[in-house]
Amino acid sequence: MNNIVAIVGRPNVGKSTFFNRLIKRRDAIVDSVSGVTRDRNYGKSEWNGKEFSVIDTGGYIKGSDDIFEGEIRKQVELAIDEADAILFMVDVEEGITPMDEEVAKLLRKVTKPVILVVNKVDSAKRTNDALEFYNLGLGEYFAIGGMNGSGTGDLLDKLVEVL
Ligand code: GDP
Ligand code: MG
Repeated sequence: MNNIVAIVGRPNVGKSTFFNRLIKRRDAIVDSVSGVTRDRNYGKSEWNGKEFSVIDTGGYIKGSDDIFEGEIRKQVELAIDEADAILFMVDVEEGITPMDEEVAKLLRKVTKPVILVVNKVDSAKRTNDALEFYNLGLGEYFAIGGMNGSGTGDLLDKLVEVL
């Protein structure tokens, strides 16, 4: 498979919401594959005539209280191996968390394209709040609202450009 995009990030940042928005043909989703891929959803998407596959990671990692840090790390490492580009999603509502910093540390070493996506940017105030994510040391970010779709066009333009 070519043009594989993985969405990584801690639980509850909005990965699955955005994934579902990307996947127009929902019947293309292959879920619950056994083994290491059991908690990953795969789907196909397309933007500006370019097709790509999307992996939504961390499906069975629930909540933010009982997070198993090793699981997240494993998901990120798998994504780094498997994907051609990585979308690292964070949540402006929560701001930078220690787990975001852990993931950023792993991703700063990656030579594949990594795009920082600040999600839940649904208001002017949040647009301003998003600025703190420069502190993750990953450079420019894309501010989106995965739920209402705001900002996703610019993000997808960038994504297909780096694929
Ligand atoms: P995941 O654990 O990263 O896959 O996150 P989910 O997609 O399951 O979303 C977690 C929560 O964030 C849900 O309650 C969503 O409705 C909410 N959410 C997702 N995207 C947005 C957004 O763009 N804006 C706001 N305000 N909430 C969102
Ligand atoms: Mg999810």
